[in-house]
Amino acid sequence: VLFLATGGTVALDSAGVAGPVHLPAARLLAAVPNLAGVATPVVAEAECRRSSHVSPADMREIAATIHARPSGCSGVVVAHGTDTLEETAYALALMLQPDLPVVLTGAMRRPADIGADGPANLLAAFRVAAFEGVRAAGPVVVFADEIHAARDVTKVHTTAVAAFASPGAGPIGRLTEGRVELLRTPADTDRLGLPQQLVGRVELVWAAAGSDGRLIDAASEIADGIVVAAMGGGHLPPGMAAAAARAARRVPVVLTSRCASGSLLRATYEGTGSEQELRAAGLLDGGGLAPVKARLRLLVALALDIPPSVAFPT
Ligand code: ASP
Repeated sequence: VLFLATGGTVALDSAGVAGPVHLPAARLLAAVPNLAGVATPVVAEAECRRSSHVSPADMREIAATIHARPSGCSGVVVAHGTDTLEETAYALALMLQPDLPVVLTGAMRRPADIGADGPANLLAAFRVAAFEGVRAAGPVVVFADEIHAARDVTKVHTTAVAAFASPGAGPIGRLTEGRVELLRTPADTDRLGLPQQLVGRVELVWAAAGSDGRLIDAASEIADGIVVAAMGGGHLPPGMAAAAARAARRVPVVLTSRCASGSLLRATYEGTGSEQELRAAGLLDGGGLAPVKARLRLLVALALDIPPSVAFPT
């Protein structure tokens, strides 16, 4: 099983006074009990950084490393910071063929903290990576003995050890006494392809009560695309709706919801700032994708020259 240690709390050496020091992959593996009975890890070179510093270009590097893995690997485990774990998981779902299990995990407590959760999460991740049945689900996040699909998973707690959930969807599986139990296999609908580079600019603008359109106007000056995190089923305050319509004449603008679960409406509300008006103005339908994931989808589509309307079909 290919192992990439990319940094984050799971590897954070609390002795690092001048900033975070990440333990090497071999130290993380040495702390996992009974790993030898589960898988043979093969360590791949990876950049280490806290995950709030991980960029889409870094995610592409991780995807490229997995794509170019040594022959004979039957699974992949990526140890990653939790802050953007869901974004890297979904980026891998966009960029990789589902041809082997790919599992991302991390920890909420550092290795030296009491009750450190990293070793248990890593062991569970290796167990899932060794379970062929999970392959078709695309990349998954394994955390606190639950298995989550990349498309649905999100960090829901700032400190709890069970920090991840899939709102509205639930985990796709779990581990019980170390056994992998798959509850469902989501359809693989995310993949677009692996671009040569991922350096475009897609800005995310969040709607709040009374938001006007100035941030959208500003974003449309500098960005290759915009994702709008709208209210409810896809609704915006009047000024923001007008700006979104203006922006959609210049760059692709994807409508998403700031709600944690559910899909956008298409044909329920009419009038100013409604989903029907915004669709008619050319905004693309982000469906049930979280705003941060729609942003990655648009970035990857643009990098591959896939028309945004194909990446976000209605
Ligand atoms: N700040 C850390 C990171 O995302 C938090 C974590 O790993 O849990 O890198």
